[in-house]
Amino acid sequence: MARYTGAVCRLCRRDGVKLFLKGSRCFSDKCAIDKRNFPPGQHGQARAKKIVGYGLQLREKQKAKRIYFTLEGQFRSYYEKASNKTGVTGELLLQQLERRLDNVAYRIGYATSRRQARQVVRHGHVSVNGRKVNIPSFQVKIGDVIEIREKSKKMAILESSGQFASGLQQPTWLHIDREAFSGKVLALPKLEEIQLPVNEQLIVELYSK
Ligand code: SF4
Repeated sequence: MARYTGAVCRLCRRDGVKLFLKGSRCFSDKCAIDKRNFPPGQHGQARAKKIVGYGLQLREKQKAKRIYFTLEGQFRSYYEKASNKTGVTGELLLQQLERRLDNVAYRIGYATSRRQARQVVRHGHVSVNGRKVNIPSFQVKIGDVIEIREKSKKMAILESSGQFASGLQQPTWLHIDREAFSGKVLALPKLEEIQLPVNEQLIVELYSK
């Protein structure tokens, strides 16, 4: 399945929640959820059907996939790895998504959205422990130092006013040094620190059928 390249605000409107896919626009009054909070399409304003059971589980999985821009196969492999480990499967699943290098680049502030952060990583602007890493799904671990490479510093956005100024808390599991354009992984992210509009338990129920 190809990666989705259409209008991302439709995805938020489909689920009726902000998925923060469009950078600083998500924090402005131009956000489509604030202006047109009903599903896209011809029948979007018709009376909403109540979603229960499988439909609810599917929607939660779709939301998580869309937030982190992962494809179905990759998302399922995160679930399988999480279910084979000791611990709470839902938390382990979200932890793996959160530890992706493109997400960490977004959290540090190298980009205003995860999609933009993915590009920053793909284009080779990010290093981990001094070595260039251009794989968005690379999993960071405790102690890793993530930096913008010296020659890329001029283009770094280092968003200081966007996500954190808009109510989302700076992650406590990362030490962010804005002056040095770097971040260090202090711990693995805990469920309560991940702050996503997703019920991970329903995703586990969906996959464990
Ligand atoms: Fe979603 Fe952001 Fe578009 Fe709002 S502006 S609908 S939060 S992608």
